[in-house]
Amino acid sequence: MNEQAIRTIVEEVIQQLVKKDSRPNTIPIAVSARHCHLSQDDLEMLFGKGYELSKKADLSQPGQFAANETVVIVGPRGSIEKVRILGPARSLTQVEVSKTDAVKLGLNPPVRESGNIASSASITLVGPKGSVFKNEGLIIAQAHIHMHPDDAAHFGVENGEYVRIRTDGERPVSFEKVLIRVSPRYKLEMHIDTDEANSGLITSGQAGVLVKDGESQARPLATLKDPVQPMEPGAVIFQKNLLTKRDVQALQSDMISVRKGTIVTPLARDAARELKKTIQVMD
Ligand SMILES: [Zn+2]
Repeated sequence: MNEQAIRTIVEEVIQQLVKKDSRPNTIPIAVSARHCHLSQDDLEMLFGKGYELSKKADLSQPGQFAANETVVIVGPRGSIEKVRILGPARSLTQVEVSKTDAVKLGLNPPVRESGNIASSASITLVGPKGSVFKNEGLIIAQAHIHMHPDDAAHFGVENGEYVRIRTDGERPVSFEKVLIRVSPRYKLEMHIDTDEANSGLITSGQAGVLVKDGESQARPLATLKDPVQPMEPGAVIFQKNLLTKRDVQALQSDMISVRKGTIVTPLARDAARELKKTIQVMD
């Protein structure tokens, strides 16, 4: 094997190691169909005294489950059957629907963070043993991301912050104003409703790319730290720890300034010579 071939292999290996080190910046998306959370009082009004929900399936967030039980929700224009109840019982009854559902019901619920139902829309729920009219409790859930504090550190975001999420695929979309919710109890997952999912042809399990609010839409988080900063016209300061042949070829400038600790591979030096570019080490 000649020296050139060995150099090429070493360069490739180093590039692989560097690549492995970069963090994934995607978030799994789960689509929430219409559902309701019931208080124990309302559960008993709808299903009978002392009733307890039975578990159909665990949900991704620890402790949460989809119940076997469903209710009918009723508005002035129409009703929707088989609306899934999510357990366990909560202090307040809350019904989450899409805008499409709301139009069918003839109601105008606000977009809200789960749990914030003050002055939201009214709704009637019907169960096998009775019905309940709630003066408030009907909302369109705001798109949000559940994450553990470790994930928040990883993405550089805080509880209550808004971010933008971009999806790829046949019909790429960006979701604006996606709320970050951080808790040690949470597992990393973005929740959107069926209207949002359908608009981007998104299915559960698909991943979105997090873009912090205020950053350019076109730039995913992985590239927020641009390796090249402009210094003066025609000159660039290369910020990474390793300058490779590919970098030399990709950089537009004839003058490439690197920091003192940056490793310049032999192939990068060859490429610079070939392309008549100067590599300058800064102090
Ligand atoms: Zn959620």
